[in-house]
Amino acid sequence: MTAQTLFYIIIAIIIINFIIDKALDAINAKHYNDPIPEALNDVYDTTEYKKSQAYKTVNYKFGLGTSLFSFALTLGFLLLDGFEYVDNIARSYSNNPIIIALIFFGIIMIASDIITTPFGYYKTFVIEEKFGFNKTTKKLFILDKLKGLVMMVLLGGGLIALIVWFYQVTGNQFWLYAWGIVTVFTVFMNMFYSKLIVPLFNKQTPLEDGELRTKISTYAESVSFNLEKIFIIDGSKRSTKANAYFSGFGSEKRVTLYDTLVNDLDDEEIVAVLAHEVGHYKKKHIIFNLVTSILLTGLTLFILSIFISNPLLSNAIGVEIPSFHVGLIAFGLLYSPISEITGLIMNYVSRVFEYQADDYAKNTYKPEPLITSLKKLSKNSLSNLTPHKAYVFMHYSHPTLLERIKNLKK
Ligand SMILES: [Zn+2]
Repeated sequence: MTAQTLFYIIIAIIIINFIIDKALDAINAKHYNDPIPEALNDVYDTTEYKKSQAYKTVNYKFGLGTSLFSFALTLGFLLLDGFEYVDNIARSYSNNPIIIALIFFGIIMIASDIITTPFGYYKTFVIEEKFGFNKTTKKLFILDKLKGLVMMVLLGGGLIALIVWFYQVTGNQFWLYAWGIVTVFTVFMNMFYSKLIVPLFNKQTPLEDGELRTKISTYAESVSFNLEKIFIIDGSKRSTKANAYFSGFGSEKRVTLYDTLVNDLDDEEIVAVLAHEVGHYKKKHIIFNLVTSILLTGLTLFILSIFISNPLLSNAIGVEIPSFHVGLIAFGLLYSPISEITGLIMNYVSRVFEYQADDYAKNTYKPEPLITSLKKLSKNSLSNLTPHKAYVFMHYSHPTLLERIKNLKK
């Protein structure tokens, strides 16, 4: 195997991945105007349906444009030895591998952030605005960007520095230490994300005592689930779209409801959504996902450790002086077909889990309010009611609305 061959393999992976992705998008887009299944007839009226079709089309074209752009940019960067260029800049500042790695990733991350910001801006202030979803102010948009950047520098930079240091000290054994630190980080984030990170971006207030809280407590008690931490988050400051999620475990477990969800749904529907979330917890989906992601990380790091000391990896993307940080990028590119496959499997498992959580809500509460809530949420986000099977198989972490309703009515 020569560096040249490896380079062509990387280019082929990028091209094939792009073609598959765009072909799927196109197949899916062909079905935007399919007749709505009868069970979903009451989701949209004629005007709303027209609006949802327009929304799908605009997003499809936008997605096509952005991915064409990033595809061209990635290929161009590789063909013009961009990584060699950035590596040389980083090396001109220091001889320390950790500092070099930090400057190298810093330049790449910040440059790609700057390049993609106009797309994010357009998505928020043109597309989402046009369809009445956007509530983000320009000031908030900029603040979010800056906070995100600071977090990336601190957390991402810290993690990279540690991993490069492990590699310096322990050689190919680094993967065990890296796995350890990533695991600690993942578990910590799972436990405390809502407590430590979310407040930087949103305000969370405990759900006040009242009718809704009583109904939730009554349900929680009926399934002997200890649910004290219920928070309302001000999602409405960014978008009208609604959401609810479960996070943490043990004493840190909590449910977060978007204020938009509380506004859109009635009390019974909210309890049904919560019952679904409780189902995820009771069926051990949360712990399964956490353990699986930790094991997958370990496997990936182990495979990385086999190849990382081979200079071919750095040479393959045109960098002369082999290094851990450049090897990491080349490995990431070569590994992407495998991570696509693991992603597919995880999506499949996630769809199975969604059915199980729906079943749990159906059996411990009732199906009707969950059905109406799912319909309302779909309507309020103008979602696609007729996605293509292949697209669902590849990209959906949830079954389609039609499939979920069929299952809930069984
Ligand atoms: Zn779910």
